[in-house]
Amino acid sequence: MHIPIPENLHTTILPIKAFKDNYIWIINRNNFGVIVDPGESSQVIEFINKNEINPEAILITHKHYDHIDGVKKLMEYYPNIIVYGPAKSKFKFPYKSVKENDILTMKESKLKYKVIEIPGHTLDHVAYLDSQLIFCGDTLFGCGCGKLFEGTPEQMFKSLQKIKTLKETTKIYCGHEYTLNNIRFAMTEEVNNLDLSARYNRTINKNLTLPSLLSEELATNPFLRAKNSDEFKQIRGRKDAF
Ligand SMILES: [Zn+2]
Repeated sequence: MHIPIPENLHTTILPIKAFKDNYIWIINRNNFGVIVDPGESSQVIEFINKNEINPEAILITHKHYDHIDGVKKLMEYYPNIIVYGPAKSKFKFPYKSVKENDILTMKESKLKYKVIEIPGHTLDHVAYLDSQLIFCGDTLFGCGCGKLFEGTPEQMFKSLQKIKTLKETTKIYCGHEYTLNNIRFAMTEEVNNLDLSARYNRTINKNLTLPSLLSEELATNPFLRAKNSDEFKQIRGRKDAF
């Protein structure tokens, strides 16, 4: 079944730092805001006030505390906000559950996102995408991928293959700033990859390395470059020990 990917024009997307290395993403269109993975709330409220945004929705990629712990407070603060989260989780707050191929339309901003299921890091994990970008939580990282807390290497490999089918100009918005350390690991996997050493050079002095481009990941990310799930599993094992 082919579900077309929606297009969202005239948006601004900014990161808010949370915890040690998490990103909460805020999508702003005509001063209506959508918040992705609020693990914390106070800096989100501060940002929203400062930028005069009317928050209308929260998108949750998966159940880990560092992606959802700010939700309750934000719901109290903004009683009309609508929360979307994966159908395979049971959250303690009211939310609309989403699954593969759902198209979400935000009431005020008219922002539209398609949902895909990408299990591996956790079994409930979903991503939200439009024609230009993907919010992929802890599945794909800059030059890396999430740890397998619940899924199998086969599941994660399949989820990454799904992301690989998006167009190469797709912007990758991940849940953590792990890129530099991931590049250091990747360089031990592919010693002669010139795209990788170039990526290292342009990353080394950056605080914010995201969003990356899918084309960049295809050229440098060892987990996307693995040819099959066995190879993926071995690379994942070496990264876990890195
Ligand atoms: Zn996680």
